[in-house]
Amino acid sequence: MDLSSFDIEFIKLNIGKHTFSWHISPLFFDHFEENIVDKCTGDVKLVFEKINENLFKLDFSLKGSMHIECHRCLNEMEFPFADNFSLEMKVSEDILTDEVNLILVTQEEKKINVATYIYEFCGLQVPLRATCELIGKECEQKMIELLDKYIIGTNSEAKESDPRWNNLKNLKYN
Ligand SMILES: [Zn+2]
Repeated sequence: MDLSSFDIEFIKLNIGKHTFSWHISPLFFDHFEENIVDKCTGDVKLVFEKINENLFKLDFSLKGSMHIECHRCLNEMEFPFADNFSLEMKVSEDILTDEVNLILVTQEEKKINVATYIYEFCGLQVPLRATCELIGKECEQKMIELLDKYIIGTNSEAKESDPRWNNLKNLKYN
């Protein structure tokens, strides 16, 4: 997957709305160093509105699923998600802004690549606390009991913040 397919040559667009769409696969995420999303697939639609030569509105909608692991029983599951986000883009002489949803581009720029925005937005879909309940299932009690044996202490919150917890993930495959 070539990220240049996420280029939008806004300079060439007529005033009005333009629709773009992409299918993203795990290969898309290989382009980014931080591996915040694992095995995610989905479809992205962008309505790119050129309001005038200096002002643009980007409305993204995202639908897909990602492979996650239950934090309690290590069960692997597909987590479906769907979300929208909007950005505004301005041609400006300023190069910095405090507004998180605002992109500033210079007069010289003729295109924008939206891949990073899509990547970051996918990252926001990763559940902070992934448990089987997210997909309406119950945790595997046997696995939790097994994991308990290998963890010192019985406080479950302490367990989950313990970095050693990650090392136990491989147990499932033994
Ligand atoms: Zn679970």
